[in-house]
Amino acid sequence: MENLSAVLHGVHDLRLENQSPTIPQANEVQIRVQKCGVCMTDVHMLDNGTVGNNIILKEPSVIGHEYSGYVTAVGSDVTNVKAGERVTVDNLVACGHCARCKRGHTNVCFNHGYIGFPPEGRGGLARFATVPATCVHRIPATLDFEEAAMMEPLSVCVSAINRADVKLGDDVIVFGAGPIGLMTSQVARAKGASSVCVADISKERLELARKLGATHTALFGADETDSRTNAQRIRDTLGDCPDIAIECSGVPHCLRTAIYAVRPGGVVAVVGIGPDDVSIPIVDVALREIDIRGCVCNNYCFPASIKLVASEKVMVKPIISHRFRLEEVHHALDLVRDRKVVKVMVDCSDN
Ligand SMILES: [Zn+2]
Ligand SMILES: [Zn+2]
Repeated sequence: MENLSAVLHGVHDLRLENQSPTIPQANEVQIRVQKCGVCMTDVHMLDNGTVGNNIILKEPSVIGHEYSGYVTAVGSDVTNVKAGERVTVDNLVACGHCARCKRGHTNVCFNHGYIGFPPEGRGGLARFATVPATCVHRIPATLDFEEAAMMEPLSVCVSAINRADVKLGDDVIVFGAGPIGLMTSQVARAKGASSVCVADISKERLELARKLGATHTALFGADETDSRTNAQRIRDTLGDCPDIAIECSGVPHCLRTAIYAVRPGGVVAVVGIGPDDVSIPIVDVALREIDIRGCVCNNYCFPASIKLVASEKVMVKPIISHRFRLEEVHHALDLVRDRKVVKVMVDCSDN
């Protein structure tokens, strides 16, 4: 059976190869992939061979961590899905039995892996992928496969909003109007925020943020990097200090702006990943009791993410700006690297 797969062999060495589909083990599910999104993390992996300290490419690995498809085969112990059902895949593989998992904090599991990254592999930039049954979620008939493939990035946003603990009536500032910022702002509204301001350097992206429900936007020039001045602009735009700041850009001066902007006792959630070391105004953090909260992957947020889209509380379709076939995956990743796109979706089906 043909199974064209995007296999990462080394830095800048991504090859399209035909691999035979993996027969599912007792607790695994084989999926005929339909759609797979790509993001900056894939580009980072391709350009560096690593993400953070614990994802390191040592052996060839199939990439793609945002995907959906049909179940084609299930192992003997699988009870949650059947062949023929439409599903999406949570890329977090948690062990389920370490102290963190037992406390319900699965995204910082001591033994976790990520589908679509080494050493786990099993990525969705392929015709077929075989994954643990615990990672597979059925999707309702109202979601198409593109929307279903957006559940992975959306789950990151839902997890971040849970971490930030957005409450009814809160004012929220979101930095960055990329796919994550554009979905995070919608989830914040769905959670009950009364005002959500999105900040970015792109006028077009901010227009999209407005269409998707942001109540305010703040357009900054690329050279406007003074964090105190920018924080004041955000306070003026919202009419008050935001209660919560969600940093989705990974840009160091945005993180500093977030800290200066929030009210005393406010929360800064760190979602965007930028340089390893960033200087922040730590005295300001201490004296105003700001909570800085790290956010990674998602903590069992797929069910909520699926329902948010099915109930039209969150719109993901307008965020998809470009579509490619699996055979064009190199070009798709180049466009993501150049930031010329919002969200790129790859069609992995062979029809
Ligand atoms: Zn991603
Ligand atoms: Zn665990």
